Amino acid sequence: MEIDRRDFLTLSGAATLALATEPVWAQTSKVEVRWLGQSATRITTLTGKVIVIDPFLTNNPKTPQQYKNLDALGQVDVILVTHGHGDHTGDVAALAKRTNAKVFGPAGLIATMVDLGWVPPEQAVRFGKGGTVTPLGPQIKITQVRAEHSSEVTVTDPTTKKSTTYPGGEPAGFIVEFENGFKLYHMGDTGLFGDMRLIGEYYKPDVIMIPIGGHFVMDPRDAAYATREMLKPRFAIPFHYGTFPVLRGTPQEYQAALGPTSTQVFPISPGDSLTF
Ligand SMILES: [Zn+2]
Repeated sequence: MEIDRRDFLTLSGAATLALATEPVWAQTSKVEVRWLGQSATRITTLTGKVIVIDPFLTNNPKTPQQYKNLDALGQVDVILVTHGHGDHTGDVAALAKRTNAKVFGPAGLIATMVDLGWVPPEQAVRFGKGGTVTPLGPQIKITQVRAEHSSEVTVTDPTTKKSTTYPGGEPAGFIVEFENGFKLYHMGDTGLFGDMRLIGEYYKPDVIMIPIGGHFVMDPRDAAYATREMLKPRFAIPFHYGTFPVLRGTPQEYQAALGPTSTQVFPISPGDSLTF
């Protein structure tokens, strides 16, 4: 399959893959989802609002070089953070400062970020699992849901190398419902848990971004079970693998474990985008 970087490849009636190597933001009246490595994601809504989830870019070994310059993200309207680990929070402070975007996340995590001076209080919004916020207007709903993980914030003094760990609230995932009702479920970091079935039945996500790396999160077999038996989305984007050696799971193993299914998997690379 040969794809020119400016070509758009139609993968199904509903999704398009763009292997763009430069940040040209589509105004396609579609939802654009660009994966930037690990869990970092830049989403453009139908009306051009930009949501960045878990910005970990400048020190992310999988983030394409061009996105390590935070200006390459362009306008950012909202920043969402799933939990306190460095591979999710690395660039929150810098991006919040640069864009003035409000930062939303689990209440305990946001409290710590304010205390540490990462985010000014007026830019920080605490909310909890089950809560829905609409910072981009009533048509775009962001709901916080459970994740089975931990959340603490470890800060290392650059001079003494001494680390200090602070409480980071409860880990979470986010369901973003767009202007047309399409729903994306960014699962954050999570192990398999039974209420994924509830999330599948109740929220009916159209596309999931699902961790598959193992060790800290689900491995490909767990992720396949969650996808096939509980969440049953139309589309799945595997993430949180390969960034560090312990995150061994691969999209190929995920797809093999999934077997024949109605879910279409997009094993995209960091920097690639999909439109829905
Ligand atoms: Zn992580």
